[in-house]
Amino acid sequence: MRIQGISGSRGVAVGNVYRYMQEEIVIPDYTVADDTVDEEIGKFATAMAATLKQLDTIRQKALEHMGPDEAAIFEAHMQIAQDPALSDGIKSLVESGHVNVVAATSQTIETFANIFLGMDDPYMRERGADIKDIGDRLMRNILGMNPRGLSHISGEVILVAHDLAPSDTASLDKNVVKGIVTAAGGPTSHAAIMARTLEIPAVMGVGDIDSFTDGDKAVVLGTDGVVEINPSDADWNEYTNQAEAFQEELRRLHESANLEAMTTDGHHVELFGNIGKAKDVKHALTMGAQGIGLYRTEFLYMENDELPTEDAQFEEYKKVAQDMKGQPVIIRTMDIGGDKELKCLDLPSEMNPFLGYRAIRISLNRPDIFKVQLRALLRASAFGDIHIMYPMIASVEEVKQANAMLAECKAELTAEGIDFNDAIKVGIMIEVPAAAVISPILAKYVDFFSIGTNDLCQYTLAVDRMNEAIGSLYQPLHPGVLRLIKHVIDASHEQEKFTGMCGELAGDPVATMILLGLGLDEFSMTASSIPLIKKILRSVSKEDCKAVADKALTMDTAEEITNYAKAVLEEKGLL
Ligand code: PEP
Ligand code: MG
Repeated sequence: MRIQGISGSRGVAVGNVYRYMQEEIVIPDYTVADDTVDEEIGKFATAMAATLKQLDTIRQKALEHMGPDEAAIFEAHMQIAQDPALSDGIKSLVESGHVNVVAATSQTIETFANIFLGMDDPYMRERGADIKDIGDRLMRNILGMNPRGLSHISGEVILVAHDLAPSDTASLDKNVVKGIVTAAGGPTSHAAIMARTLEIPAVMGVGDIDSFTDGDKAVVLGTDGVVEINPSDADWNEYTNQAEAFQEELRRLHESANLEAMTTDGHHVELFGNIGKAKDVKHALTMGAQGIGLYRTEFLYMENDELPTEDAQFEEYKKVAQDMKGQPVIIRTMDIGGDKELKCLDLPSEMNPFLGYRAIRISLNRPDIFKVQLRALLRASAFGDIHIMYPMIASVEEVKQANAMLAECKAELTAEGIDFNDAIKVGIMIEVPAAAVISPILAKYVDFFSIGTNDLCQYTLAVDRMNEAIGSLYQPLHPGVLRLIKHVIDASHEQEKFTGMCGELAGDPVATMILLGLGLDEFSMTASSIPLIKKILRSVSKEDCKAVADKALTMDTAEEITNYAKAVLEEKGLL
């Protein structure tokens, strides 16, 4: 039988079904008499003590199995459980409403959790799941039911459950649980996030788990979001091979994550990751990123109705800087407008938003917003190697104005006695053709360039990057774009500055040899592209790449260049 769900975590897994079912909590409906109020509240206090003890055990297990970040989740659970607002809410329902303690807990938790569950941000929704998990545990303890947990499973199983709470997954052992299937949830559910962290193939949202029987053979096709139950012997053998191949792929990936991005002739390349949130750092590091080449800060502005405060931004930037442990982190100032709308800023709609009021143009016009971000960035620079990068620069005046505001922020912080890195590196995105052309002039004013090929390509070729109808005209290896890239890299090197690339082209294997041959110093990409690009970089020599780039520059069309680059890779067995 084949069941279609939603992809939660990629990969293939095979095993026997283990249904994880929990005894339902039945909320009693009695009311509390005046003279038993204290006794009822006493039950809550006993249950709270048991809850905190259990959470501490889970915290220790999470530390052993998954590491400090996951253990911190349960430290947070312990803090939430002890939040006076929670216990006061419950006690007041018992005292004044004569509601029994289980019902009072259920109602209070529901109110708390709903605040978070109603939010758009998946991270905040996760906090709602945490609160529900704590409430569940409290109620089970009041009712004297067995605590939940998965530590008792053995063998190699496909775990099938209605849903998995954070405390369930904390004791999850990936040597035992080979695949996960849940009836509820989607790609942002806690179970899916955990499965991806642990690299366990998972399918979510299969509706119900009635079709699964303990001991059945099951295949989890995580990438496709499909589960097969009791397949034919031939299929089972084929899937078992695929599951082994997936494990082998993970092993290779982990090995390569620790290898240096160095060519066969000893040339070191900076291989960085692009992120959109502080919490993406972990994945980037797992994939082998040695720095962050583009942190798109727009999401901080896009997710709320209000502009993010200096402190909120500072905390986020500081976390990235600290998690990267001194490795470079290039943080781009807000790049809103264009395709990115903003709830907290009423931007007028425009005929040509990509050519309109966006990015640095908004920042320079709104020092009240821009300086808040610059101050937060400067403050965070005391905690790691932060670089500031301005997007959509088209002229020297813009760089000068932005740098003048940065200087004002530095002066303010100095006057306030707040620490920051005075030598913080400042660079610009090269994504407007005019900026590429005047890069020898711009290089005088900045420490580095990062080429944003997504926009550079659309502006150079006059091809809207969002318009699928003209998708075939969007050619990042067009001779015109390639010449601009070469010009920018050469301009930076002549003034001893460095050039990176953070547009999609940096993660395209077909372009790797050409870009390295042109002298690109740093490649920054979606984390999942890093292993393949690293493999290519480690298999070629810079000399070879130079020859490939030189030859590509003699060609007349993007098609010729692409075919040539592909042929070189194929010949080397790299494609
Ligand atoms: C780019 O334009 O290449 C780039 C990296 O920026 P974004 O995709 O965020 O516009
Ligand atoms: Mg861009």
